[in-house]
Order: sequence, then C-alpha cells, then structure tokens
Amino acid sequence: MARKSCRAPAATEHTLTCLQTHCGSCGRPMAVADRTQRTITTLQGNCRLILRVRRCRNPACAWYHRAFRPEEEGKWALPHGEFGLDVIALVGMLRYTSHRSIPEIHQALRDRGVQIVERTVTHLLQRYEELVTVHLTDQRRLRNQFKVTTSYWPGLFHCYDQADLPRTNNDQEQYFGSARYLERRTTGCKQASPGMVIRGAVRVVASVASRLHPFSGPELCPTDVTCWRTLRSELNHHHEARRMQYRFRKSPEHYLAALEEKLSKESLPP
Ligand SMILES: [Zn+2]
Repeated sequence: MARKSCRAPAATEHTLTCLQTHCGSCGRPMAVADRTQRTITTLQGNCRLILRVRRCRNPACAWYHRAFRPEEEGKWALPHGEFGLDVIALVGMLRYTSHRSIPEIHQALRDRGVQIVERTVTHLLQRYEELVTVHLTDQRRLRNQFKVTTSYWPGLFHCYDQADLPRTNNDQEQYFGSARYLERRTTGCKQASPGMVIRGAVRVVASVASRLHPFSGPELCPTDVTCWRTLRSELNHHHEARRMQYRFRKSPEHYLAALEEKLSKESLPP
C-alpha cells in the first residue's frame, strides 16, 4: 500500500558540493552549473540535501555538459532512494541480528518516528541484502584483504602443513545451516520460502555476514553503483520469471491468450 499522506517537511538542510573541480577529460575547471535538491528520510528525521552539480563547459570536450554530482551524496542514500542508508542498515540489523519479522520492523521504525509503509520495509530489506553482498564482493577490498592474508601465509593454515589435520570442518554446511535456522526463526516456516529460492544469493550472504558484523549506514555505501545495479537487475529477472510461472499455474488459458495477443501485436507491421 502506498503512502497516503505527504512527507513531513525537512527538519535539517545540508549543502553538498562536488569536490572534483576540474574535468577528467579536458582538465579545464568546472563551474557549479546546477543547484538541485532531494529530501531523504533518516533516523534523525527528514533532511533536505542541496546539491551543487558541476558541468564541463568546454564544447570540444567529450564530457561536455556531463553532470558531476557531489561525491558525498552516495553516503546519504542510494540513487533515487527516499530513505537514508542508516534506515536500511537498521532494517537489516533488526532482521538478521534481532530476528524480527517485517511487521515488527515496521512497528519499530514507526516507534522511532520514521514515516514508512510495510511494503517499503520489505524493499529496504532487499536493498540491505544487495548492499551487503556488493560490499563483501568489492574487488578492491578483496584484493587488499588477499594481500594482508598472503603476508601471514606461512603458518596461517596449519592443515596444509600438518598431514594429520583434516582440511575441512564442514564450514559450508554450517554456513547454509545457520541461514536456514535464521529464516525458520524469523518466519516460523520450516520449509524454504520462495523468496529464499529467488534471492538466496544475497539473502544467505547478508544473513551470515550480519551475525558476524553489524553493518552501519556508511559501510553500506556502494563503491561501485554499477555493480549494485547489475546485481539488482539479475535478481529482478529471477523475480519476473517466478511471477510468470505463478500466472501460468493460476490460469494457463488466460496466460497463453495474453501471450498469443502479444505475439500477434509484435508480428503486425507498424
Ligand atoms: Zn571537459
């Protein structure tokens, strides 16, 4: 259900400026060309962000008129997002650390003064799962971690030095088992939900990672927005396939008739 009332006016205001002052293509200074604004709902209330956008004014440049938005904007919220990353982090923490259901998380947010509907809580939880997965699979971070672990390489894994030590302790089984346990505890269902089947790739990761480390809002800021968008579109593709299967099972005649109509429309000349 969509929100029925307007959002409360912003209580605070922040002005953000693009720190990159020179064009990355032609090297000329970029002036502030636009001043735009967006309102974000955070745990501290609604906040208006005034954004000073720079553009390259050199007509000969390949990046002519390309908008450069303030870098700090990403630390507040996702592109086109209405809620701040701190709200997303809290939703994830309540789900995966405190094992709350969606209605309980919704109530907890309402108690904190966040104007939100229940359906949006589900969407924010999905964003949390995606962002945690993107954070953990960030290539730059992984490369750094690999460098550090390589420096401790001698003696790090004794199982490779000692012939008697077993090389596995069923970590993977425990990993999936803990995710299954959490799902059962939160939803009360013994069997895996359809959502777990579709979004398992991010849900299991978020579930296990959140128990080991509570993620804060700034940590969820994606270093690579394209990577997050790709992951999200892949998951949406799975969702759409599942929706089509459901529609077919519910009414095969209607589904096939709609498909036939769509095909005949596409085959007709314009
Ligand atoms: Zn330029």
